[in-house]
Amino acid sequence: MQKRITIAIDGHSSCGKSTLAKSLAKKINYIFIDSGAMYRGVTLFCMRNQLIENGTPLTVEVLKHLSEINLSFRYNPKTDKADLFLNDENVEELIRLPDVAANVSKIATIKEVRQKLVDEQQKMGVKGGIIMDGRDIGSVVFPSAELKLFVTASNEIRAQRRFDELVSKGIQTTFQEVYDNLVQRDELDSNRTESPLIQTSDAVVIDTTLLTREEQLDLAYQLYQKTIA
Ligand code: C5P
Repeated sequence: MQKRITIAIDGHSSCGKSTLAKSLAKKINYIFIDSGAMYRGVTLFCMRNQLIENGTPLTVEVLKHLSEINLSFRYNPKTDKADLFLNDENVEELIRLPDVAANVSKIATIKEVRQKLVDEQQKMGVKGGIIMDGRDIGSVVFPSAELKLFVTASNEIRAQRRFDELVSKGIQTTFQEVYDNLVQRDELDSNRTESPLIQTSDAVVIDTTLLTREEQLDLAYQLYQKTIA
């Protein structure tokens, strides 16, 4: 039987990590986990419970409620992908809304939030055969992953892709709002104290600016084959 490895995919916001991870997972029959969805789920919980005031998390209050946050992924046959559930409610669509995107990177700076989610993510990966995407997967969650990819793309192309995606879902926003949110999240994610977004020295860089989805998948698949060979 072929060895089932761990694949860590990190990179900037909206660079196509999740799309690439999802299609590679499908091709090689691996589990795909979108770790960003988990940070978004915690953020939605905090927003609903007034644990964020004027864009700043009330950290002491957030910590008091952490144990009430139960996240899980469940397969949705309609979309052929896993949806995020927050305390038994399907929140997959809600966590993609711009107001969650506006708050998530601040929630993601809280050490205890990260510890809780990293712990859950590591449990999901104990058996291998997993592709996880995020910001700290190759550096903190799975530092010994056999294959690490660092995905990036120009700011303009990332903002355009995310804007098109939101518009296609009927979500009201502007290109500028999406662009500003990406830049702000990159800044917070790269400069926070707790496990900032970094490119580990053993990661292979994929710049998706000029690549089609098929070309990105081909490249990642070749790297996977090389790794297991
Ligand atoms: O991947 P996505 O853009 O949905 O992630 C939303 C936010 O969650 C990121 O901007 C980042 O602040 C946080 N995040 C993180 N660590 C991860 C995944 C996401 O800090 N592993």
